[in-house]
Amino acid sequence: MTTKSAAAAARATVYGYPRQGRNRELKKAIEGYWKGRVTADALRDTAAGLRRDTWEQLAAAGLHEVPTGDFSYYDHVLDTTVMVGAIPARHRAAVEEDALAGYFAMARGTQDVAPLEMTKWFDTNYHYLVPELGPDTVFRADSAKQVAELKEALALGLTARPVLVGPVTYLLLAKPAPGVDPDFVPLTLLDRLLPVYAEVLADLRAAGAEWVQLDEPALVQDRTPAELNAAERAYRDLGALPDRPQLLVASYFDRLGEALPVLAKAPVEGLALDFTGSAAANLDDLAAVGGLPGKRLVAGVVDGRNIWVNDLEKSLAALGTLLGLAERVDVSASSSLLHVPLDAAMERDIAPQILRWLAFAQQKTREIVTLAKGLAQGTDTIAAELAANRADLASRAASPITHDPAVRARAAAVTAADTRRSLPYAERTGAQRARLGLPLLPTTTIGSFPQTGDLRAARADLRAGRIDPAGYEERIRTEIQQVISFQEKTGLDVLVHGEPERNDMVQYFAERLTGYLATQHGWVQSYGTRYVRPPVLAGDISRPEPMTVRWTTYAQSLTDRPVKGMLTGPVTMLAWSFVRDDQPLADTARQVALALREEVDDLEAAGTSVVQVDEPALRETLPLRAADRPAYLEWATEAFRLTTGGVRPDTQIHTHMCYAEFGDIVRAIDDLDADVISLEAARSHMQVARELAAHGYPREAGPGVYDIHSPRVPSAEEAAELLRAGLEAIPAERLWVNPDCGLKTRGWPETRASLENLVTAARTVRGEL
Ligand code: GLN
Ligand code: ZN
Repeated sequence: MTTKSAAAAARATVYGYPRQGRNRELKKAIEGYWKGRVTADALRDTAAGLRRDTWEQLAAAGLHEVPTGDFSYYDHVLDTTVMVGAIPARHRAAVEEDALAGYFAMARGTQDVAPLEMTKWFDTNYHYLVPELGPDTVFRADSAKQVAELKEALALGLTARPVLVGPVTYLLLAKPAPGVDPDFVPLTLLDRLLPVYAEVLADLRAAGAEWVQLDEPALVQDRTPAELNAAERAYRDLGALPDRPQLLVASYFDRLGEALPVLAKAPVEGLALDFTGSAAANLDDLAAVGGLPGKRLVAGVVDGRNIWVNDLEKSLAALGTLLGLAERVDVSASSSLLHVPLDAAMERDIAPQILRWLAFAQQKTREIVTLAKGLAQGTDTIAAELAANRADLASRAASPITHDPAVRARAAAVTAADTRRSLPYAERTGAQRARLGLPLLPTTTIGSFPQTGDLRAARADLRAGRIDPAGYEERIRTEIQQVISFQEKTGLDVLVHGEPERNDMVQYFAERLTGYLATQHGWVQSYGTRYVRPPVLAGDISRPEPMTVRWTTYAQSLTDRPVKGMLTGPVTMLAWSFVRDDQPLADTARQVALALREEVDDLEAAGTSVVQVDEPALRETLPLRAADRPAYLEWATEAFRLTTGGVRPDTQIHTHMCYAEFGDIVRAIDDLDADVISLEAARSHMQVARELAAHGYPREAGPGVYDIHSPRVPSAEEAAELLRAGLEAIPAERLWVNPDCGLKTRGWPETRASLENLVTAARTVRGEL
C-alpha cells in the first residue's frame, strides 16, 4: 500500500442519520398511526419520503457512500430481531397477522402482551429493545427491510452501504427470554445465527450491495477470551462465504482494545474505528498490530455523539497518520449521527457567534466531506474551510463564555475540606433525628407529583404571553398548596413541594445556570417516538440567583412537617446534556457542583432541614471499560460531596437513583456521603435492600415499595409485604418508606390511592416492630 493511493481514494461516509425529519414528520406519522388517524400506507409513504430526502441531502453535501437500513420505525435492534426471525413467542401471532402492528406491539406492548424490555444503548441516551433468546430460539432470515431500503437508495443512483447490527453484538445485547434459565448465555446461539446473517448478506449482494457494514460496538467493552473467540469465529465464517459483499466491521463509542487484533486479522475487507475521545487510543493500537494491510479503514474522526465543531487540522493530522496504516482510508463520524440533532442552522435563539461552535448532523456531514476532500486532494483545496474552522475554534477558546475568571477562581480554590461534611455520617444521625423527630420507617416521596395537563398548559400560556409571570407564579403556588395539603392529610412524614415548576429535571436548572444554552430544535431520539432536547453545557457555569428556594420555602410555610428541598445532582446535569469537550469532565462537574452547592446552602439558610440531590445518571455514565471507571467514580462522587459538603450535621442529605442493579457501585454510593438514599426496588421484591446489606452499606435507605412505572395501585398489604422483606436486610432504624421514583408521569387518582396504601403499610409494619 502506498500512502498516496490510500489518500487519493479517500471517501466520505456516515453510519446512520437522524430519523425523524426536519419537522418531526416521522414522530407525527407514527403517533398518528397508533391513534388510527394515519393509515399504514400513509406512514410507509412518509417514511420512504424521509429516507429519500436524507439520502439526497447527504449526496448533495458530497458524501460518497450513503448508509441504508439505519432507518427505523422504532429501534434498529428491534429491526434486527425481525431480520433474524427472533420474534418472542407471545408476539408471533400478532406479527403474522399484521407485521407493522405486531412490530409496534413488540416495542410498546398491548393490553394483554408485554413489550420487550428496553435498555440503554451503551453509554448513550438512546434506548433499544432487548432481544429475548433461549435454547429453543429458531432464527430465520427476513432480509425484506434491508433489501427494500438498499434498492430505494440504489434507484436514486447512489452508492449505498447497508448497515446491520453485527451478530456478536446482537447476541451480547440479548437476554434470556422469560421462562428460560436466567443463566442461559445467548452467545451460545452464534452457530445458529451465522447462517441467517449469511443469507441476509447474500440477499443484499444480489440486490446490488458492494459493501455491507456490520456494527460491533459491543466489542469496545471488556470481553472475555470466550467472547473474543466468538468474534473471531463469526468473522472467519462470514468472511469465508462464497457469495458475499465486501464486509466493513464497525466499532464505536470506545477503543477496541483486545478485540482490535482479532478484527484486524479477520478475513473481512474493512474496519471502521472510532478515533475520538478515549477511543483515540485506537491509533496507537492500530500501529502496534501493524495496521490493516490490504484493508479499508473508515476513520471516525468527527465526534458522532457530541455537538461541537470539529478541529479539522487535528483530524487531518490523525488521518495523515492513518494513511500509512491501511490500503485505503475513508472519513466518517465516530458513530451514527443518530445521537446528535439534525441541523444547527435551525436554531434562532443562539447568538450567531456561538452557533458557529456547534455542529449537528448536517454540519458534521459537511465536516466529513471537507476532511475527505482535504485528504484526497490536498489541504490547499480546503484552505477556506480550514481558515474558517480555525477562527471558530479560536473564538470559542477566547470567549468570556468559556472562560469566566470568577468561576475559575472559585473552582481552583476548592479544598479537600470543602468536599467533606464537618462530621462523619455516624455522628450526624443523632443530630438529624433530634431535629426532624421522625417515626421509625419514615414515609416520603421522590419529589415530583403528577405533571398535569393544567401545569403544562400554564407553562405554554406563560411562553405565549397569555399569562404573566405573576399569574404563572400563582398557578404554581396553588399546585404546591394542594400537594402539601394532600401529603399532610395522607400522613406522609417528609413532604415535598411536588416540582410543579419543572419542565424537566435537567432543563429546569440548565435554564437558570449561566453557561448553559437551550436549543429550539435540538431533538435527539431517546426511544421510539420519544425525543429529548438536551441542553448544551457550553461555558463556565455559575448561578446568578437561587433557583428553587422560593418554591421550597413557600411549601415549608404551609406545614409544620419537614419539606425536602429538591435538586438535580452534578453528574446528572452533565449526563443528560451535551457537555463541553474543551476541558476534562471532572472540571466541568466541579463548576456545576459549586453552583449547586450555593443552592444547597441557601436552602439550608432558609430553614430547610432535608435536601435531596438526585443522581439517577451516576451509574449510566460509567465508562464502558472497567479500567476507566475508578477515575470517573472519583470525580463523580467528589462533585456530589462538593455539592452537599457545606451543610450542618443536622441537615439531612438525601440522594435518589432509579435503578435496581448497582452492586458494582455500592462503594461509590457510600462515597457520596449522603445520609439517605432512595432506590428502585418494587419490581425486584427488595433485591436492592439485600444487595445493600450484602455490601455492608451503613446508611439509611428507602428501597421503593411502589412501582411508579405503571398505573397499577399496590395494595397496602402488598407494600407491607415489601417492607417486611426490606426489614430482613435493613434494620428499622435505617429503613425509609417511599415509591421507586418521582410521580410526574402518573395521574392523580392512582397517586392518591397508592400513597395512602403506602402510609397504611408503614403504620401496619411499625405496629409489628
Ligand atoms: N426528583 C425527581 C422526581 O421526583 C427524580 C426523577 C428521577 O429520578 N429521574 O421526578
Ligand atoms: Zn428515579
